[in-house]
Amino acid sequence: MADKQSIFREVEDLQDRIGIFYQELGKIKLQLQELIEENQRLSLENEHLRDRAKFYVEEHAPVPGEALQYLMSLYEDGFHICNLNYGAMREGDCLFCLQNLQSRT
Ligand SMILES: [Zn+2]
Repeated sequence: MADKQSIFREVEDLQDRIGIFYQELGKIKLQLQELIEENQRLSLENEHLRDRAKFYVEEHAPVPGEALQYLMSLYEDGFHICNLNYGAMREGDCLFCLQNLQSRT
């Protein structure tokens, strides 16, 4: 016959582990919530920056350093910054994009 005492201890041990697991799950849930909020905030910020950059692209005006940096990094990240395809993913270099950057430096 199984040792009742040891079975009881095993169940207690398991309870402890479930408790810890449950706490960890709670922490992960909080972190997930924070990440989702951060992501929403960044998406909104990104949208605003895109709007601003698009404004500069359409204006053909000399852009402030910060905006130019943004356009350059957007291009380096693989997006079009030319009037034709602004914001679309690009494959390889785009002459219009490069021209756009050159005309502002
Ligand atoms: Zn382009």
